[in-house]
Amino acid sequence: MSQGHMIPMFDIAALLALRGASVTFITTPLNAARLRPALSPHHPISLVALPFPSADFGLPVCCESFDALPSPDLMRAFFEASKTLLAPSIRYLRRHPTPPSCVIADVFFPWAREIAREFGVPRLTFSGFNCFSTLCIRNLRAHGVLERVGSETERFVVPGMPHEVALVKAQLPAEAEARFVDLRAEMRDAEEMADGVVLNSFEELEREYLNVYRETTGKEAWAIGPVSLSNNPSNTINRGGKASTDELQCLDWLDQREPKSVVYVSFGSMGRLSPPQTAELARALEASGRNFMWVIKGGDGLPEEFKEEPVTERRMVVRGWAPQVAILSHGAVGGFVTHCGWNSALEGVCAGVPMVAWPLFGEQFLNEKLVVDVLRVGVRVGVERPGGLVEGEAIEKTLEEVMEGGEEGVLRRMRARALGEMARMAVEVEGSSYVNITRLIEYVLKHKSNRDLRLV
Ligand code: UDP
Repeated sequence: MSQGHMIPMFDIAALLALRGASVTFITTPLNAARLRPALSPHHPISLVALPFPSADFGLPVCCESFDALPSPDLMRAFFEASKTLLAPSIRYLRRHPTPPSCVIADVFFPWAREIAREFGVPRLTFSGFNCFSTLCIRNLRAHGVLERVGSETERFVVPGMPHEVALVKAQLPAEAEARFVDLRAEMRDAEEMADGVVLNSFEELEREYLNVYRETTGKEAWAIGPVSLSNNPSNTINRGGKASTDELQCLDWLDQREPKSVVYVSFGSMGRLSPPQTAELARALEASGRNFMWVIKGGDGLPEEFKEEPVTERRMVVRGWAPQVAILSHGAVGGFVTHCGWNSALEGVCAGVPMVAWPLFGEQFLNEKLVVDVLRVGVRVGVERPGGLVEGEAIEKTLEEVMEGGEEGVLRRMRARALGEMARMAVEVEGSSYVNITRLIEYVLKHKSNRDLRLV
């Protein structure tokens, strides 16, 4: 339960509903309230809100999402609390006149396999990762590479990839973090035992990795994205919740800027820079002389003038939630500084804009490799590991490279535009993602016993 998972899952639900499936989306009251504005009569989804027992697990009342956790120390309690959703989910589904035909569950809900078992239907998982990162992590695990690597800084190569991918341990999601070993194992088992995975990606973007994944696991991998493109355009503004600043103000401000002149900066729903890093970034953005829109959560270290005057000719500082997909697809945006959360990176791909890759944690360092080295539509800001400080001058230089960058800059922008075009074609009727949705639905029809198609 975090925005980076909830939003694409809800898009997936909408996509399946658009194709005629009856979809039930099970979540908790506050998450349902956030998602409700994005419901559309074009893709009817039945949104079910089950009570979340925050207080019983020592969580603040109304804490139903990762980004609302006051401290990472409460992560375990949060996972434990989420497990209590199993019994009411099954009760709800038993009462329903038609049993489900398939369960698509987030990888953080390994207990959802009990639902699939109860109704004897296929279970697919969704991790929010792209196929490249999924495959890297899977292959490292399967070959026991991390056990052999001594230090956090020792370089190693990921086995079984179609080309060389070199990493250091510090660039991987905190797999081995002692307090989560058991949870990780539960999730891994649930993923290994699932009937397949659903990915927010598309064949043309990750064909090599998708093929290797299918061959090595013998499982189905349905790339049905970019899911952000499949959203009903009238709901783009409300994607993931009501925008905190007047959303039209963001777009109005962009309307008044030259085409491709604005740098859009965002670190996702949870990314927070340290106060010194925030100050360095502010300095670099000012020094770059470019227009910028900076969406910031928290904001310690933000210069006083940015707080007092968030909107000027050259800058717009948005404190809180912003309508990212609408912003990125605005013609005034010419570059995207991103933490490389997969949804954001893929939304950048869809918008056809070059990116400054600034990973913070989790699998974001792997996504950076995909964006910079494989797709070649981004430039590294130069963070080597979580928490590494990037100096203002280095940020400014990277901004210049992405927004100008000479001949290579021109080529990068051309590649970005071409990928954006490819992404749009993938979701069109008979495009690769459209066809994969058809295949997914056919798979479910083949493996279910009841007549109606009902997905949970
Ligand atoms: N997002 C948004 N407005 C914000 C912050 C995030 O619309 O102010 C959306 C963004 O478009 C993306 C998701 O939230 O769809 C964030 O997912 P991502 O995987 O990029 O990063 P995470 O938040 O999981 O680190």
